[in-house]
Amino acid sequence: MSENATDRLAAVEAEIAKACKIARREPEDVSLIAISKTHPAGAIAPLLDAGQRVFGENRVQEAEGKWLQLREETPGVELHLVGQLQSNKADDAVALFDCIHSLDRPSLVKALAKAFDKADKQVPCFVQVNIGDEDQKGGCAIKDLPDLLSQARDADIPLAGLMCVPPFGIEAAPYFALMAKLADDHGLEGRSMGMSGDFETAIMLGATHIRVGTALFGERG
Ligand SMILES: *Cc1c(COP(=O)(O)O)cnc(C)c1O
Repeated sequence: MSENATDRLAAVEAEIAKACKIARREPEDVSLIAISKTHPAGAIAPLLDAGQRVFGENRVQEAEGKWLQLREETPGVELHLVGQLQSNKADDAVALFDCIHSLDRPSLVKALAKAFDKADKQVPCFVQVNIGDEDQKGGCAIKDLPDLLSQARDADIPLAGLMCVPPFGIEAAPYFALMAKLADDHGLEGRSMGMSGDFETAIMLGATHIRVGTALFGERG
């Protein structure tokens, strides 16, 4: 991998373009979210300089620590929360983030609806699905998805789509295909799927948002 953030970004963008060409999709229809969790502001600045504006973090406090300042310096940044959200952090998350990828349970639907009211601000949410039905994994069980979606709709949560992190270490394509089907079945546009190791496959299977950390920033410490 290149030492230079501009080169790494260009390489990822070229891979996106290649996958889109094969899939007969437009690169503009795939949003690249640069996952900057664990990386300090100094590592993020080169990507901002290279023109990247969409970023993702997995912890509210860590994101506040870096992005309140970075955002002052660079207008037009779009910030996505891709990690588990505790209900007691809903207000802070709503204040900071432009999109939430980890809506996964009824209690969080309630907490977010309340936070939106309080802040007079709506943040689009992806419902995270535990697509591999794994015990330790975050996300709503597939069998509970219809209920959770109707609760979110009843609470006027703006639904962006579905999000998943497939089981580690095995071929992700079947899980991406399953998630695309679930999104179709429920009339949801957005598909947040694909990370550094598998975003090309995810694009082939309809990803609208890919979440790429390592390929842009290098290994996390
Ligand atoms: C860390 C993380 C990513 C990025 O993973 P890489 O393999 O470093 O690209 C994507 N999605 C979520 C939910 C993450 O926590």
